Amino acid sequence: MIDTRGPLALSLLVIAVSAYGCGGPEREHEVLSHAPSTGDRPVGDRPPGRIPGTHLQDDRPTVENLDPDLLAAVRAAARDARADGVRLVITSGWRSRAHQQRLFDEAVAEYGSEEEARRYVSTPDDSAHVTGDAVDIGPTDADAWLGQRGAAYGLCQIFANEIWHFELATTPGGECPDMLPDSSYRG
Ligand SMILES: [Zn+2]
Repeated sequence: MIDTRGPLALSLLVIAVSAYGCGGPEREHEVLSHAPSTGDRPVGDRPPGRIPGTHLQDDRPTVENLDPDLLAAVRAAARDARADGVRLVITSGWRSRAHQQRLFDEAVAEYGSEEEARRYVSTPDDSAHVTGDAVDIGPTDADAWLGQRGAAYGLCQIFANEIWHFELATTPGGECPDMLPDSSYRG
């Protein structure tokens, strides 16, 4: 069953359109035009999504500002995953600097220090989400599917402690680089 609640459903629609391969640019635009705002205003009418592995909330799984090549790779993977009976959902995509800063500040409050927080949430300067070069994928079976097959699309898990976080890090069919232990190693 498709979960029809909130931003996850919106992302799902975006993926679903490409997954079925019958939409084309026009219908895709129509779906995207209903996607969450990329602005910084708080969104109170949609249930937020939890950032996997943390208690943090991400209320805008925004896909509009993602690197087009990354989004195309995720869509291709989503199409093939669906054929395997796995539903691939973008739970978090592009984030504004202000949004990333807010997530980092929340992580500092949760984990007690900036040093510890960096293991789970990057600063705006270091986050690939801010540049549109990273997506968080769910649910867990989708993470496992993409973790095994992502390299075929150029998609790689980057941090050993974030099975949901993927970036374009190799050529399609290539080999993914060794994972970093956690996001603090990139800073
Ligand atoms: Zn991420």
